[in-house]
Amino acid sequence: MTDSNAFDIIVVGGGPVGLSCGWQAAARGQRTLVLDRHGFFNERNGTSGAERHWRLQYTQEDLFRLTLATEPLWRRLESLAERRLIHSIGSLWFGDVEVDTNEGQIAETMRVMDKLGLRYEALDVRDIERRFGFTNLPQHYAGFLQPDGGAIDVRGTLAALYGLAQHHGCVLRAGERVIDLAPDADGVTVRTDERTYRAAKVVLANGPGINDLLGPLGATLDIKLYEMALVSLRRRDENVDFPFWFVFQQPTEEDTNLFYGFGRNPWSPSELVRLGPVFEVNPLDHADQATNRPDPRHVRRLTSWVADHLPALDPEPAHTGACLAVLPSDLERQFYLGLAEGLVPHGENIVIYSAGWGFKFVPLLGEICVDLALNGGTPHDIARLAPTATLEAQQ
Ligand SMILES: Cc1cc2nc3c(=O)[nH]c(=O)nc-3n(C[C@H](O)[C@H](O)[C@H](O)COP(=O)(O)OP(=O)(O)OC[C@H]3O[C@@H](n4cnc5c(N)ncnc54)[C@H](O)[C@@H]3O)c2cc1C
Repeated sequence: MTDSNAFDIIVVGGGPVGLSCGWQAAARGQRTLVLDRHGFFNERNGTSGAERHWRLQYTQEDLFRLTLATEPLWRRLESLAERRLIHSIGSLWFGDVEVDTNEGQIAETMRVMDKLGLRYEALDVRDIERRFGFTNLPQHYAGFLQPDGGAIDVRGTLAALYGLAQHHGCVLRAGERVIDLAPDADGVTVRTDERTYRAAKVVLANGPGINDLLGPLGATLDIKLYEMALVSLRRRDENVDFPFWFVFQQPTEEDTNLFYGFGRNPWSPSELVRLGPVFEVNPLDHADQATNRPDPRHVRRLTSWVADHLPALDPEPAHTGACLAVLPSDLERQFYLGLAEGLVPHGENIVIYSAGWGFKFVPLLGEICVDLALNGGTPHDIARLAPTATLEAQQ
């Protein structure tokens, strides 16, 4: 093995979390390599599309505290990259306030916002219809507007993270797939389809591909992969705009009945706005089965909801796409984040991050993964997220 193939930290996966790890490890003086099987900025995994929802509010207090801890890190990233990444168009949650969803629950979230002192405006159905242009909503619907929430510029974030990683000397290699890992007491041997590398620590930030690497070591995370529809619609009236909105509704027999949408994109203005259903149905067995095409039924469910409730939008799709969502089967846990200690042999040398609605946490996830790799711990409460797995080899 040549010195050029030896690193302090190798990060598998160059999506936003992997790039955040690459930047923060290199900035701390670590010889760092980030490998991605596709290109950086690829749209084939969990990060396609232009925007993600930024929100501070969470139903679970520990996750809420993590968003509060993430906010100053976004500000630092914006300042280092000299560009705005979070646009505070507001975060509107409304619907049936008692319904439990993967996104959270409105009534309990209002209680936690009160406890943690986060400002918000409580709204009844008349406010929501009058102020934001929704119509024909069930009369028991209610919710809140949290004004600091909004939209994250996905491509701007990736460009910022890539630039900072490169600036600090992180080696970034695209088109190289990690095939297997061999951890031992001193580190990890990482074999790709091109070379063999050695690192003291490895961070697995390869999203939907995590079990391809953990499985042969004897552990499988209980994750589910869903292809979710992304739909762009035309605004009928350019004077009408929206905050980010998410409608909480009772599930139907066929799907979760949840929809969301963004307002006018502030960093790339157009007549289009982006919406989507959040249907956790029909999971794929493997990421390689992804078609990158949305289920037409899901698109129809969304556009029919829009036709009923959002007259300011033309329900005829201007553009559709799909994005791979990786979620833990146990929705309570939200993510997998921690050391693989106890899951695979010499797992103390492997950090795991996968699954969940993670974009809003990207700067914090990079910091925590690097802390875990270098110090074996983090000051943040990540107990809920600790990796557990089906253990095969050790049974
Ligand atoms: C429709 C949709 C809406 C979402 N909305 C929100 C939202 O509003 N707010 C929010 O916070 N989050 C949201 N999320 C979640 C968020 O987008 C993801 O959590 C985040 O983008 C995932 O980033 P990542 O770096 O973990 O993974 P990915 O972007 O999936 O990157 C993983 C990378 O690993 C690479 N890779 C895989 N296997 C290998 C291998 N063996 N060797 C080398 N490279 C490999 C892949 O090529 C890929 O580039 C949403 C997700 C979806 C699908």
